[in-house]
Amino acid sequence: MTLATFHLDHIIPQSAGGATEFENLCLSCPFCNEFKGEKRRARDPETGRQVRLFNPRRDHWRKHFQWSQDGTKIIGLTSRGRATVAALRLNNQIAQTARGFWAASGIHPPGSD
Ligand SMILES: [Zn+2]
Repeated sequence: MTLATFHLDHIIPQSAGGATEFENLCLSCPFCNEFKGEKRRARDPETGRQVRLFNPRRDHWRKHFQWSQDGTKIIGLTSRGRATVAALRLNNQIAQTARGFWAASGIHPPGSD
């Protein structure tokens, strides 16, 4: 596994009938893709409810997430956001360390998406 190569992820897994077409594909880093696996839903740690994961083709990032003040953590703002942060372990130590370097060099967090 390498950080430099992105994976082409099926948002709805092929095993669940997801098609190999633009609307169902996104670029994912290897860690997120591995943690996502076959998941389509996950538990919101705040409410305990199972909710659909964030879909980068249908959902707006800024509605569901924001960056922490120092830019190292992704904060889930909604049930879907919180469940996605937890399920994909978006705040894993490697990601936080990388974001810390990017923030220090002024290229992170992104100004718009
Ligand atoms: Zn990732």
